[in-house]
Amino acid sequence: MADSTVMEKLVSLCKRRGFVFQSSEIYGGLGSVWDYGPLGVELKKNVKDRWWRAMVHARDDIEGLDAAILMHPRVWEASGHVAGFTDPLVDCRQCKNRFRGDDPRIKGTPGEPDAQCPVCGTRGSLTAPRLFNLMFKTFMGPVEEQAAVVYLRPETAQGIYVNYQNVLNASRQKIPFGIAQIGKAFRNEITPGNFIFRTREFEQMEMQFFVAPEAASEWFERWREWRMQWHKDLGLTPARLQWHQHGPTELAHYAKAAFDIQYEFPFGWQEIEGIHNRGDFDLTRHQEYSGKKLDYFDQAANRRYVPFIVETSAGADRVALTTLVDAYREETVEGETRVVLGFHPSIAPIKAAVLPLVKKDGMPEVADRLYHDLRAAFPCFYDDSGAIGRRYRRMDEAGTPFCVTVDGETLNDGQVTVRERDSMQQVRVAQAQVDAYIRERIR
Ligand code: ATP
Repeated sequence: MADSTVMEKLVSLCKRRGFVFQSSEIYGGLGSVWDYGPLGVELKKNVKDRWWRAMVHARDDIEGLDAAILMHPRVWEASGHVAGFTDPLVDCRQCKNRFRGDDPRIKGTPGEPDAQCPVCGTRGSLTAPRLFNLMFKTFMGPVEEQAAVVYLRPETAQGIYVNYQNVLNASRQKIPFGIAQIGKAFRNEITPGNFIFRTREFEQMEMQFFVAPEAASEWFERWREWRMQWHKDLGLTPARLQWHQHGPTELAHYAKAAFDIQYEFPFGWQEIEGIHNRGDFDLTRHQEYSGKKLDYFDQAANRRYVPFIVETSAGADRVALTTLVDAYREETVEGETRVVLGFHPSIAPIKAAVLPLVKKDGMPEVADRLYHDLRAAFPCFYDDSGAIGRRYRRMDEAGTPFCVTVDGETLNDGQVTVRERDSMQQVRVAQAQVDAYIRERIR
């Protein structure tokens, strides 16, 4: 299957089955903004829940936070976003397409006669790069002209930095400790695309770990290892994950070291998470711009310092897309194509479907009771319409790991058939044991 075909099929499946819809579709859609449907919202929530459990609930040294999207405008001056969060924008005067100035498809130097448009092929039609700030602006206050300009945050990290002392005092943590947050971020990307890979509104899962300066490198290495393991534990194919180290030209001027975790998408290796040793840049800048002291007093060592920060920054939408791409497969079974989303059971939107073999002989009643029992434990789906084979296929496409079928025998022996999505193997399980059987396997 050609790589572009895989993405086309996935986008179509996502719409058909209710994972992802284009925003405002009935009005023709809004560029690179997407809505999550019934299955998609469960998938993304499962990804975020797994992250929150691993980062906050399973650790004593990380606290959670939910900061507001709108922040004081000075935050973005301190962070460097007002002056520096820009991409070079290049227009083609001929075909009107827009590109990032660093688009590898552009041949020659934009603005010079030799430069060639990668879409229409015209020479000399590309403008010189203009710097374009990626932050969305809006106005706070009723009268636009007098109101303060505020920004929709382009990352969640700043909400953590400005609350660092509040959290430290309230939680009575000591360094080393971290603050984790999941929330929306907005970037007016010049070239968004590849479905939900690069969008203008997205969600980040970020954690900032505050450490003593001399301990930063060691913590950086630990976080690299833990974060890669987290992606593997999601069920992603290990061979499709790799590290990309930022070279001197990619590294932010303040950063001590940065690595991206990349996944091999059908459109190439791309970043899904960044792990950065940010030094003391962030807190030093906020100290400077706010006039408030943000240093830390280490009582045991009797010394003061501005903590270094090790950041782990992942996109919830990007990771959700990664799980979809990694899970998608087509197989031929008895001469027919079977489309499967082979999700790790812990992130599958629906854990089990309950299916009466036929709509008579008391089977629907038993199935309905079982469905209501199981629904109390995990998300389930009841389906009694169509041939059983077709119902199995529908659940394979939704990524449901188990189908539980009530048949004629169930009424005699109290057992049901549990079919496993990937192997398609079927086992007989006592009705009373189904809950425990599935629960053990979706953990
Ligand atoms: P890229 O180089 O792909 O634009 P970035 O280096 O700007 O990404 P960061 O600022 O490090 O990304 O953001 C951290 C994470 O947030 C990324 O690894 C990605 O998962 C997610 N992310 C960033 N921009 C977007 C976007 N426009 N759409 C969806 N997710 C995004």
